[in-house]
Amino acid sequence: MIILDDRHLLMIEPRNGKQPYILDDLTQKAELVYMRAKTPQYGYRGFHQCVCGVTSDNLDHILPDGTITNSLMVHYIAEHRAEVPQSEIDKLERLYMAFTDPHIIGEEQVTFDSWCHSRQIKGNWKESLFQHLKATRTGADLENTQEWSEAWKELLNKATSRLTR
Ligand SMILES: [Zn+2]
Repeated sequence: MIILDDRHLLMIEPRNGKQPYILDDLTQKAELVYMRAKTPQYGYRGFHQCVCGVTSDNLDHILPDGTITNSLMVHYIAEHRAEVPQSEIDKLERLYMAFTDPHIIGEEQVTFDSWCHSRQIKGNWKESLFQHLKATRTGADLENTQEWSEAWKELLNKATSRLTR
């Protein structure tokens, strides 16, 4: 099934055989975003076989903001790049930026709320980020802008170090 709306990411069906694996920034971003996905306890989607023969699992892979993707998303980006619609690449870039945008670091007035607002992070995603931050920084005053920026910088460093290892 092909679904290109805003609630889904890389739910596509390439028509041509796979091409040589592209290991570049975009593939690494796809890996990072995919690592954020959680799966339900049991599967109910059908297994999906890509045109090249690779088979997906039968689970929804749910990103922290509720966006649904699938276990072939990195495969599509890495090995079917030419057939990925630009709109899906834009969507992937947005999700990646929402987790790792370094530009907010060092800004004086950034707060958790204003940062989330600027990146359009809301609902469950915002809540899970906040809980993660809280768990990481026991005792930190998250209302304090300075404390918050430091804590956020740590999280970003952890996330980006996985990209540059
Ligand atoms: Zn394939």
